[in-house]
This record gives sequence, structure tokens and C-alpha cells, in this order.
Amino acid sequence: MRIVLMGPPGAGKGTQAKRLVEKFGFVHLSSGDIFRAEKASGSALGATLAEYMSAGKLIPDEVVVEMMAKAITAADAKGTGLMLDGFPRTVPQGEALDKQLAAAGKPLDGVVVITCDDAPIISRITGRRSCPKCGRVYHVQYLKPKDDGVCDDCAGIELVQRSDDNEEVVRDRLKAYYAQTEPVIEYYRKSGQVKVVEVDGNGTPDSVTEVLAEAVGNLT
Ligand code: AMP
Repeated sequence: MRIVLMGPPGAGKGTQAKRLVEKFGFVHLSSGDIFRAEKASGSALGATLAEYMSAGKLIPDEVVVEMMAKAITAADAKGTGLMLDGFPRTVPQGEALDKQLAAAGKPLDGVVVITCDDAPIISRITGRRSCPKCGRVYHVQYLKPKDDGVCDDCAGIELVQRSDDNEEVVRDRLKAYYAQTEPVIEYYRKSGQVKVVEVDGNGTPDSVTEVLAEAVGNLT
């Protein structure tokens, strides 16, 4: 199964993606994680990506499409299904993805959108922490680790806050989402080629997982 997980920043895509991977065995490809890894590698490309990311702006389509095409080809070769998270984020990215998947004869099975209101998004994002080793996501209030500031799964690894998880940048990321990414949902709806399902992400992580897993299970 090949699905795209969409939704505004802070809707819970990262947290839910990890749980869906456990349940369905997909390969999880997060464009943000891929770009952060490039940044961490210290390459010239990584430094360019970091300028956009730290400002909450979208990275240009040509760069994103090229990097994601390679990652998708490698991930798809594993044959366990694919969950794209954070990509596509513009209509041209959606068109490029469709072309790539059509050429490989492996179209999308569904687009799942997690919706969420702006107020909880701001509080979720500014309190978000994650494990730099395994990527597990926590929240200082709503999803605490067992030991303060340390990952439950990786002994002794201290949780970190993403540099773009502050209120000012979040507001810019939300603007980019409404202006450039929401039209992608409409693009898929109009195509009539793929199922588009919306799941309300305003609830607790567990309640959202339950509804989401059912929605994903119904896609095939
Ligand atoms: P995320 O982890 O998905 O919130 O992404 C973090 C940042 O990476 C975004 O604010 C963008 O600067 C950049 N980014 C991630 N995915 C994309 C994409 N598909 N297109 C453009 N920029 C992206």
C-alpha cells in the first residue's frame, strides 16, 4: 500500500506515522526528516536547505522533487508499502510524484489528511520534543517520557527541540500550509484517481490513532 499522510504542521503526523508503521509495516518517508539529516551531514546542500527550514519556508520544488524521488525509489524497493509524510506539499510536487509512481506502475492507494485547529497546533509544536536517535516524538505536557527529558526507547538519550518549533516560525509554516499545501488535497480530490480521507486530529494521540488506523485499513 502507498499512502500520503497530510495535515498542517503539528497535526500529529510524525507521532501517528510511527504508530501506523508499527501496525501496517510501511516504510515511513518524512521529507522533513530527510532534509534535517542532510542539514546534519554538514553538506553545502544541507546548509541551503537549513535557510528555508529555519525561516519556516518551503524548499524549492526542483530540489525537493529530486531528493524525494531518490528516497522513494530506494524505499519502494523494500516492497513493504510506503507512507509519505510531508511530501507532496505543493501541487507541482504532487504532479511530479504522480508521474514517478505512474511510470513505476505503482499508484497511490490513498491520501489521509489529519485536520487540526490552529490553537492546539501552536501549543503542540512549541512543547514538542523528540529523540535525536530514533525520532520518537514527545510533548512536555501531553506526551511525557517516563524519565524527564530522556527517550523511553533509547537509554540515556536526551530529547531535543527542533529549531523551527517556535511560535513565530510556526505561524509562517501554517501560512505556507494553507497557501501551498491545502491545494494539494483539492488536487487529489479533483483527480478522482485516489481516495482522500480526512481524520480529525484534535483529540488525544490514542483516540486519533484509533480512527486513523481504521481509515488506513479501509483504503485497500
Ligand atoms: P516538517 O518536518 O515536515 O515540518 O518539515 C520541516 C521543514 O522542511 C518545512 O518547514 C520546510 O522548510 C521543509 N520541507 C519539508 N518537506 C517539504 C516539502 N515537501 N516541500 C518543501 N519544503 C519542505
